[in-house]
Amino acid sequence: MPGRLAPTPSGHLHLGNALAFGAAWLSARAVGTTLLLRMEDLDRGRARPEIMESQREDLAWLGLDWDAEVPPQSLRSYSLAGLDVYRCDCPRRTRLAGQCACRDANKSEGACCFRVKPGGVAFVDRARGAQCWEPEADPVLQRADGEAAYPLAVVIDDHRDGVDQVVRGADLLEATAVQLQLYDAWGWRPPTWLHVPLLLGPDGRKLSKSHQSAELRALRAAGFGPERVWGALRPAFGLAPARSCRLWDLIEEFEAAKIPEGPFEVGEEGRLSVRGARA
Ligand code: GLU
Repeated sequence: MPGRLAPTPSGHLHLGNALAFGAAWLSARAVGTTLLLRMEDLDRGRARPEIMESQREDLAWLGLDWDAEVPPQSLRSYSLAGLDVYRCDCPRRTRLAGQCACRDANKSEGACCFRVKPGGVAFVDRARGAQCWEPEADPVLQRADGEAAYPLAVVIDDHRDGVDQVVRGADLLEATAVQLQLYDAWGWRPPTWLHVPLLLGPDGRKLSKSHQSAELRALRAAGFGPERVWGALRPAFGLAPARSCRLWDLIEEFEAAKIPEGPFEVGEEGRLSVRGARA
C-alpha cells in the first residue's frame, strides 16, 4: 500500500515542503513502500501548470522520486453520497465565527457543509503519539459552484489511491479530526498519520510564498545543493545537526518516533539553517 506526495500547485516548494515531502518519502522508502504523486489542484484560481512543473523539478532535485503520478484532482470527481451535509450560503467569516444558522435551516442553495459530530476525535500520530482534536466548525465539502473542497477530495483520493500512510505538516493536525469522521461515515479504513513540525520564517510566521528566500529554487540559485538542504533539516527530523547529509543516509537514521513537535525557524535570507523556534 502506497504513501503519497500531495503538493498544492499554488506556489514554489519551500523548506517546509522539503521537510514534509522528505518525511513522506523516507517513511515510504524506509520500508520499501511505493509512493504516488498527486497534484491537489482543486483551487483553480491559484493552481498553475507551470508551478506543477516547477514542483516536479524541485522534488527531483531533492532526490525525491515517485513510482506513479495519479490524475490531478481537477480531473477527478467527488461525491457527497452517504454524508450528513447541509447547504449554507453565509460568508466564510460568519461560518467560522460560529454565527451561521444554516445547520438547521434546510437551505437549497450554497456550499455543502459537513455536519460534524460533537466531541474530540482520537487518533495516534506516529511522532506525537495519542492525539485528540475537536473539529472547530462544520467544514465546506463542496463549494457553491459544485467544486469539491480539500477535506472531501483528500479523503476520497487517499482511499481510492489505496494510500495507507499520510505524512504532512502539523498545520493539518486539526483537519485530521474531520477527515477521520469522513472515513468513519463511509466505513473506510483510515491511513496512519504522521505530522511533521511547522517551519516558520524569520518573521515567526508559517513559511509561505512570501518567504521567497526559503524557496528551494532560491536556495539552488544561491548555490546550495540538496545535501545542504537535508543537512539543515536534520534537527526537524530529530537528528543531530550536520552541515550536509545525503538523502540515502537519512534513510538509515529516519525514525518517525524521533520527529520533534517543533516548530522550527529558518535562518535569515541567504543563510540555510533550521533551528528550534523560540516559544
Ligand atoms: N495538498 C496539501 C498541502 O500541500 C496536503 C494535503 C494533505 O497532505 O492532506 O498542504
